[in-house]
Amino acid sequence: MKQTGVSKNMAQMPRKLKREAQEHYQLEMQALGFNLVDCGSCGSTFLHRTRHEELECPFCDYRSEPSDFPDHFYTGFSESAEFQDND
Ligand SMILES: [Zn+2]
Repeated sequence: MKQTGVSKNMAQMPRKLKREAQEHYQLEMQALGFNLVDCGSCGSTFLHRTRHEELECPFCDYRSEPSDFPDHFYTGFSESAEFQDND
């Protein structure tokens, strides 16, 4: 049967490593000029160009500087206690 979705290697990775991959993807995306952030007002996740000096949330119209929109997959998030695995 044809494999679809994530590769077999990916499926066998511990969840923590998969989350660390998300951090690496975010860094690669930032290098290309895009960033994935959470709105500082409503918490929605959206993409923006890193060269923009002011961001506007497309879900609640909140406008502010980039520091008010934290990275969605910030470095170290995969170590966060909220993701402790029970295995
Ligand atoms: Zn918002």
